[in-house]
Amino acid sequence: MPETDSSMDFPARLRDVQQRIDAACQLHGKDPATIHLLAVSKTFPASAVKEALAAGLHAFGENYVQEGIEKIQQLMAHRQNINWHFIGPLQSNKTKDVAEHFDWMHSVDREKIARRLSEQRPKGMPALQVCLQINVSGESTKSGINPSEAPALAAAIAPLPGLCLRGLMAIPEPTEDVLIQRKSFSELAQLFTSIRQQLSPDAQANFNTLSMGMSADLESAIAESLPQVTTMVRIGTALFGRRTTK
Ligand SMILES: *Cc1c(COP(=O)(O)O)cnc(C)c1O
Repeated sequence: MPETDSSMDFPARLRDVQQRIDAACQLHGKDPATIHLLAVSKTFPASAVKEALAAGLHAFGENYVQEGIEKIQQLMAHRQNINWHFIGPLQSNKTKDVAEHFDWMHSVDREKIARRLSEQRPKGMPALQVCLQINVSGESTKSGINPSEAPALAAAIAPLPGLCLRGLMAIPEPTEDVLIQRKSFSELAQLFTSIRQQLSPDAQANFNTLSMGMSADLESAIAESLPQVTTMVRIGTALFGRRTTK
């Protein structure tokens, strides 16, 4: 993994990340238009998001509800230009905050959370775009649903009126072994394909996103990406530098 060089400015780090994405697409024969960059701004201030906006990024990921909402409010003047993605673990008493402020939610892993998000989504807002978080093999965290239970969860969530089911997300255990990285992402991609086949035609049309790959393993995520499916790589450190808090 290339170390983030703290002497580089944001545009230089962004160029670096884009070069890594392009190189991985070339190597694995993938279409760069299917790889979307989600800038993970957690722990970084609103000023860092502004810099990223100025450099042309429009999708930002936050892990902590309160911190995310504060940034959304500080950057309200730019609200039309930003898609805010909630990517962290969520307790059911915080669903309303996510439903009222974010555009995307990547970490749905229970029907109860999904139902609350749907009910609490304000009527004037577009549906909350959601991904199901999958606990792929070998992950020791408690977040994410077991792959075997994911098809039933997808079927239960797809019809909820306040939500739009967009795809699957995973955070595999960190490892430097590229084969293990690729195995996790390949498992997620296969599950995505089998769930999509089971959805209604309407739901299938929206189900087009794999949220996978971070600073250390984006090349492996791209290697396992699927044709005509968006792979959203969630990049924090490589864009903003090392996090010093939390
Ligand atoms: C922090 C975080 C990221 C970004 O991780 P980096 O290794 O800094 O790129 C991506 N996804 C999730 C869910 C995260 O919590």
